[in-house]
Amino acid sequence: MKDQIKIAVIGVGHLGKHHVEHFHTIKEAHLVGVYDIDKNRSEKISNLYGIQNFDNIDTLLNKVNAVSVVTPTSEHKSVALKCIENRKHVFIEKPITSTVSDADDLIALARKQNTIIQVGHIERLNPALLPLKDYDINPRFIEIQRLAPYMERGSDVPVVLDLMIHDIDLVLTFVSSAIKDIKATGISIMTNSVDIANARIRFENGCVANLTSSRVAKDRVRKMKLFQQDLYITVDLLMSLTEVYKAVDQNNNNIKTIMSAPLESNGHNRQILYEKPKIVKNDALKMELKNFLAAVKKEEEPIVDGEAGRRALDLAIKIQDKILESFKT
Ligand code: NAD
Repeated sequence: MKDQIKIAVIGVGHLGKHHVEHFHTIKEAHLVGVYDIDKNRSEKISNLYGIQNFDNIDTLLNKVNAVSVVTPTSEHKSVALKCIENRKHVFIEKPITSTVSDADDLIALARKQNTIIQVGHIERLNPALLPLKDYDINPRFIEIQRLAPYMERGSDVPVVLDLMIHDIDLVLTFVSSAIKDIKATGISIMTNSVDIANARIRFENGCVANLTSSRVAKDRVRKMKLFQQDLYITVDLLMSLTEVYKAVDQNNNNIKTIMSAPLESNGHNRQILYEKPKIVKNDALKMELKNFLAAVKKEEEPIVDGEAGRRALDLAIKIQDKILESFKT
């Protein structure tokens, strides 16, 4: 079909399969094929969707305009570099790369080649977070907990780069201020790297973010609490539940409030409004892949571009370094 973006997926393991599934149905995409170093895996996926199984990247790159890179993080740099050298737009799963200098190399090359880099920080499109755009967010404190049972997948990088980076990216979208200092600690349990981590990030504007991530938990938990002057928001990112508590000065008895302070001399009293915004269910992965295709067609900006992916990675690496430092004391 005219106007379709010819696309392929490189790395068709757990998440790559979902990329394939979506590109297969999104009408703006013409899914050309897949490539994976594990031939059995790519053959299985290509048969499942009736698409071409490429046995090398060069042949694949000759046939497409854009690529999704869904290999383990340690392979993002080399695979994405090859794609960008061949002037292909790339969607790279998070984190963009495993080092900041690798991210810089990709971003510089993409700028030269005039290609798009988009990074898969999928939580930006979490349905439970989308209602926050209706509030004026300027937090003093953010707390995010992200816990998951252990899986070998993703353990090629420390938990900070695998799980906490989702929350780091969110915090950086909520707080527009330079970082003042970072305190962090962590432990290794299942791997040789850090499996449980906590970071306390203080920003120049006074905001504090406290992030805890674990990949050795019994149950999955993804919860955020955010407070600022007159506003307290809790978000269950997993259960899609957002609750907002808003302090208002009012003397209107028609508004339903859940708490009120004693009447003040000016006739007002401090009351707490409770809101439960309606969550519109969506498939965040599908939305971000559609956004990528629209960005390639220059119809939209990428929700998370290479620079944003680099910013999240930079803070993640600083946190990881602090944790390693804490091991020495
Ligand atoms: P996975 O191990 O299930 O799949 C990775 C696949 O890449 C495997 O099939 C492997 O054979 C293949 N591969 C490895 N090196 C390759 C190379 N050089 N060229 C081509 N194929 C190669 O891993 P996964 O869980 O699907 O994770 C893949 C990426 O997605 C990681 O970067 C991870 O951080 C990211 N991820 C993101 C989210 C999210 O919420 N956005 C969730 C899970 C994983």
